[in-house]
Amino acid sequence: MSENTFRIAKIDAIPLEIPFSPFGKDGGPAKEFAGNRWNALSVLLIRVETEEGLVGWGEGFSYNCLRPLKAVVEDMIAPVAVGRDARDVRTISEDLQRGMHLWGRYGITIFGLSGLDIALWDIIGKASGQSLSSLLGGARRTKVPGYASLFRYGDTDVVGDRAQAALDDGYTILKLHEVTAEPLARVREIAGDAVPVTVDTNCPWTPQQARDAIAAMKPYDPYWIEEPLFPPEDWQALASLQRDTGVRLAAGENACTAMEFGQMLRAGAVSFAQPSATKVGGITEFVKVVTLANHYGVGVMPHSPYFGPGFVASLHLLASIAPEGWLERFYLSVEASLYGDLIDPDAQGTFSVPDGPGLGIDPDPDVIRDYRAKTLD
Ligand SMILES: [Mg+2]
Repeated sequence: MSENTFRIAKIDAIPLEIPFSPFGKDGGPAKEFAGNRWNALSVLLIRVETEEGLVGWGEGFSYNCLRPLKAVVEDMIAPVAVGRDARDVRTISEDLQRGMHLWGRYGITIFGLSGLDIALWDIIGKASGQSLSSLLGGARRTKVPGYASLFRYGDTDVVGDRAQAALDDGYTILKLHEVTAEPLARVREIAGDAVPVTVDTNCPWTPQQARDAIAAMKPYDPYWIEEPLFPPEDWQALASLQRDTGVRLAAGENACTAMEFGQMLRAGAVSFAQPSATKVGGITEFVKVVTLANHYGVGVMPHSPYFGPGFVASLHLLASIAPEGWLERFYLSVEASLYGDLIDPDAQGTFSVPDGPGLGIDPDPDVIRDYRAKTLD
C-alpha cells in the first residue's frame, strides 16, 4: 500500500434525527429536555475517509446540540485532522485537546473530538483487520449484559409498568431516572431482591437534600445512586455523601478527559466511574479512565444512552477492558436502528459484540438517508 493510504482526506459531520417513543411502540406523550420537545434522538455521525477510501464512523454526544456540535467538527476539528495519518489517533487527539483548550476542556469541543477519535479507531481496526476489542488487548466476552435505562416518568405506576416490560424483555438489571423513593419501592416489589436496580437522579440536590433523599431510598437497596449533586463535579461533596450514607455512588457522564476522572477518583467520590465514549474524549481517553479506575479499585459502568457508533464502541470497551461492566441501553423504542437488531437484547438481556474489523459494523445507509436532519445540513 502506498504512503498515503491512511491519510485523512475528508471528515463529514452528518446530523440525524430519529423519532422515538419512551412508552414503547404504542406511543406516548413527548418529553421535554432542556426546554425543547424531546421526541427524537439526535445523532451526529462523524464519517472519516482516507485518501484510499477506508471509511471510519464515530459519534459525538449530540442531544440538544446537533447544530453546534456539527460546527465544532467542521470548523475546529476537521481543519486540524484532515491530511493527518488516521492511525496517529493518540497524537491527533492530543493535538486537538491542546489546540482547543481555550474553548474549554469540557463540553462540545470534547464531544466532537470523541466522535473523531471513535472513527479513527474504527479505521485502524479496518486497516489491520482487527476488531476494536482486539486492538484493546482482546475480548473477554462476546456478550455483554445490558441494563434497561428507563426514562424519567415521575409517575410510580408508569415506572412500574415500564420496569415490568423491561423484565419481560429479558433484562436482568434496571435503572430508574427518578428522584423519589416511591418508584424505587414499587420496582423493588416487582423485580424482587435479586435484580440490581440503580437510580440516576441527574444532579438535582444540595448535599443535605441528597442525604434526605438517599436515606428514603436506601431501604429499597439501590445498587448505586447516580449523580445526586449539583454541581456534578463537586467530588469532595460526593465523597462525603458516599461515606455518610453508605450507599454506592456513580458519576462520570459529565466528566471529560482522564484528568477530571483522576480528580474524582483521588477524592474517593464514587464506587463506579461512568465514562461516556462520546463525551469523555473517545476511546483514547476512555482507556486512560479505565486504567485509573483499576488503580483506585473502582468499577467502570459506561454511560451509553445512545444508538450510534458510540453504542457499538461501548460494546467493545465492555467486552475488552471493562469486562465487569454493564451496557446502558436507553429503554425506549426508536423508529429506526442504524445497526439492525444489534441494539436489542436477547432473551437473557445481553447484547452481542460484533467481531468484524474496527467497530465490526457500519451504520445502515438507508437509515442515514431517511433520517438525515436536512435543516441542519
Ligand atoms: Mg446518567
